[in-house]
Amino acid sequence: MTLSHGLHVDGMTTLGGGEVAVLVDPATGEVSGELAQASIDDVSTATRSAAAAAAGWADLTPGERARALLRLADAIEADGQTLTGLEVEQTGKPWSVVAEGELPFAADNLRFFAGSARSLEGTGAGVLSRGYTSMLLRRPIGVVGSIAPWNFPLVMAVWKLGPALAAGNTVVLKPAPSTPGTALRLAELAAEAGLPPGVVNVVTGGADVGAALVRDDRVQMVSVTGSTSTGRAVMAMAAESTKRVHLELGGKAPAIVFADADIGQLATAVTLGATYNTGQDCTAATRVYVHGSRLADVVDALAATMASVVVGDPRDPATDIGPLISLGHRERVHGFVQRARDAGARTVTGGTVPDGGGAYYPPTVVVDARQDSEIVQGEVFGPVLVVVPFDDEDEAVRLANDSRYGLASSVWTADGGRALRVSHRMEAGVTWVNDHLPIASEAPHGGVKGSGFGKDMSHEAVLEYSVTRHLMIKHSEPERHDSFRPA
Ligand code: NAD
Repeated sequence: MTLSHGLHVDGMTTLGGGEVAVLVDPATGEVSGELAQASIDDVSTATRSAAAAAAGWADLTPGERARALLRLADAIEADGQTLTGLEVEQTGKPWSVVAEGELPFAADNLRFFAGSARSLEGTGAGVLSRGYTSMLLRRPIGVVGSIAPWNFPLVMAVWKLGPALAAGNTVVLKPAPSTPGTALRLAELAAEAGLPPGVVNVVTGGADVGAALVRDDRVQMVSVTGSTSTGRAVMAMAAESTKRVHLELGGKAPAIVFADADIGQLATAVTLGATYNTGQDCTAATRVYVHGSRLADVVDALAATMASVVVGDPRDPATDIGPLISLGHRERVHGFVQRARDAGARTVTGGTVPDGGGAYYPPTVVVDARQDSEIVQGEVFGPVLVVVPFDDEDEAVRLANDSRYGLASSVWTADGGRALRVSHRMEAGVTWVNDHLPIASEAPHGGVKGSGFGKDMSHEAVLEYSVTRHLMIKHSEPERHDSFRPA
């Protein structure tokens, strides 16, 4: 088996000097390749390269940076077969989901960020103190260290690179150890698209490589998408050198279903919300709170729609969802379900580990679980829904907000006033009404509470990766010098 390159620094992809990682195809459980990951020294080389490129990239005009990002977006589409092949092999996502969904979306994100680069402006200029003209400028932060998870490797790489590059920063990106392929390929495409060497660097490896990146003195901002425990660890390390942090962490999204909801529409959309990417989605629908009068109808409808999802080979066009990321992760997901049953809950569909290779797991609906139980409170990160009844609006809101997470939520009702009233009370970065999951490049994505802070996508993401600077120019001699005297 050939050893593949696990490092992209200074415009070149090479073997890393760190540990060799074995890559496994989750659809078969078989080894698909070996990767020479980055060493700790490689991390330093990468941040040095990013620091050396920072001034040149920041000095480009917004239009020049935008054109580079647009070329990269075109390159992603032109390279669709290769990128999709890597993503499918390393994550087990169905081919069409990547080729027709996530890859075009990643290109759209980059095109949005290209436009956003050109509207990044200071909030004003004026005479704020007599004798001085003030300008407020939006400037890049410098070198950004970005750390990504395995659930959306290509999209996450673009969410990390796009806003940081648009704002004029250079980046060292560390993808998850099991899914480095598309990030490395993206860095090669960036070099081919004419982004200067050092602007986009990729180091592969696990938590030790990530920690070295966070602690590196040349890195001025750290952006992490991952679990809440990783976010906390990174925040503590970043505090040692006062680095800015941007954290997109775990989720446990509730869906509140009132008695007047369209149950057919709900079952279809919540099933997609719970099973897209085999439930390995931080915004996935996971906790369905149903008005007691409709509990039986909703459980029956969800049991039917969840059971109808086709789980199978990612390369089979009939497949709706592929395997989980690994056999180890499947064991973790099934552990949640087993412990819920041991504690008195029931599964009305799914909940069994299928025979054969591959990390497959069936869509599963759990009922009769307590609000304070692990299956209701913990992030399962698999195609598992738990359905819990409520009596009135206040109780529904209380149960939905009773979570350490606050990333996504949905409200299901035909009553417009109630939809708005309840949405305002949700502790979450996003609330959908009568749907669950859709996102758009223009809309900010990010959480509250244990789900972290900072936004991905939208112009807000570009603002996150930039800083306001005040430039104060003396244009005439003031009558008297008094720093604290308003004009
Ligand atoms: P993870 O926290 O295990 O790893 C995420 C990344 O952090 C990986 O690259 C990993 O190598 C790195 N890492 C782990 N420990 C580190 C440390 N101490 N220092 C530096 N780097 C470290 O998460 P995962 O299992 O890869 O991804 C799943 C998690 O990501 C879930 O909790 C999910 O909800 C979350 N997620 C959140 C969003 C969002 O937008 N909020 C999006 C996708 C995934």
